Amino acid sequence: MYRYRKVQVRPVEIQEYVSRYVLSLDNHVSIADALTAFCTEKQITAGTVSGIGAIGSATFRFLDPATKQYVDKTFDEQMEITNLTGNLSVKDGKPYLHLHVTAGRRDYTCVGGHLLDARVNGACELVVEDFDMNEFGRRFDEETGLNLYDF
Ligand code: FE
Repeated sequence: MYRYRKVQVRPVEIQEYVSRYVLSLDNHVSIADALTAFCTEKQITAGTVSGIGAIGSATFRFLDPATKQYVDKTFDEQMEITNLTGNLSVKDGKPYLHLHVTAGRRDYTCVGGHLLDARVNGACELVVEDFDMNEFGRRFDEETGLNLYDF
């Protein structure tokens, strides 16, 4: 289950998106679950997300282009999200998150990459932009092994 506090920021006339939300995730929630639920609730089918926060664990996924094999790695330690950047689209009728994160460790080194999920341990503050337009779909691309945008 997810919970969050949110506030909607008034759109600026010249900007293309219609809605921008600021989310403050509850402690201990899954970032992927919270974002998926939020996209479902607000019916966001094309957009972007950015943010910062503190997490107690994170799982990254690395795709080897030569073998098209995924290698997942989980870091179970306290880290600061120095940057979360991602986009929001739809695949098979469900919200599709594409998130990248850089996370700072206790010794001030960083780990990062394509994020599968992370658990908040402290705070997580995100900005979600809803482009409010026809959905951005995804299709699997044989050549790269990736789910690419299907514009
Ligand atoms: Fe990626």
